[in-house]
Amino acid sequence: MNKISDQLFADFLTNKPLYSKIKAVESLTKYSSSAFIDHTDFKDKPFRFTCPEEKNEQTFKTDLPEHGYPRISVMIREKEDQLPYTFDSKTRKLDFKVHLHGICQSCKAKIDFLIRSTSDKEWDKREEGMTITLQKVGQFPAYEIGLNTTLKKYLSADDQASYKKALACLSISYGIGAYAYLRRVIENEIKRIIQDIAELDFDGVEFVRKAYENFKVDFQMSKLIDIVNKHLPASLKELGDNPVRLLYEQLSGGIHEFTDGQCMEKAQNIDILLNYVIKKINEEKYQLNDVRKAMQNLRKENG
Ligand SMILES: [Zn+2]
Repeated sequence: MNKISDQLFADFLTNKPLYSKIKAVESLTKYSSSAFIDHTDFKDKPFRFTCPEEKNEQTFKTDLPEHGYPRISVMIREKEDQLPYTFDSKTRKLDFKVHLHGICQSCKAKIDFLIRSTSDKEWDKREEGMTITLQKVGQFPAYEIGLNTTLKKYLSADDQASYKKALACLSISYGIGAYAYLRRVIENEIKRIIQDIAELDFDGVEFVRKAYENFKVDFQMSKLIDIVNKHLPASLKELGDNPVRLLYEQLSGGIHEFTDGQCMEKAQNIDILLNYVIKKINEEKYQLNDVRKAMQNLRKENG
């Protein structure tokens, strides 16, 4: 029998959205309560989760509701061949749902999961080896995909929502969806990214500023991008390729020409690049603010 590690089970609880599946056990040939085929194996599993009371990440442990499960007598079967209570008497396949509490080890706050456990084979064919699959069918409070603080601070509310949807698509390998949502984010944010670049301090920034003023009149993004392509702050130049241009280029062409897998890869790369560009611009912006403040203070003190 091959079984997933506690760590993978923890990742399933913490990071996977509703209806995600995970292959939990392979080549199971006989009844084993440590194989997720009854409720006992779901107990005392540790995982990290944002505590709904304390609002920060804590260690949780799974537990079973006190009165929710049959006592041990139901689980003891008289004969090897007797169908375990978690198997469906019609299909003779494993199909049961377990209600799990997650208990915060710091403040005892409770969260809830409903996990469905199924087998690919009938009990009578277990000797060929069964595969047990777990699926998350319920979670409270609801699963929430979080943006990192950089994105949260920078993106507009609409784009934060689109970005979260993109991450949700990524987490279940819906490449086309993820790519489409991230394109929407680029489309909305690229202007602001360039506007912010125009407010930085670097060699050639005056060209970007002028181009941005022109853009506000003629709305020709490609002209603006051509200028930005030549003039960038050092931190964005060191890549050897222009990341702003590359982001902009993602908007041309349709989605239909790419497979789901290709879109998936593109979306993952855009995610990395957008994070990088926004982080660099933020760093420069705040650094600049700090220096400006320091200079102002020195002037005041001298004046
Ligand atoms: Zn807590």
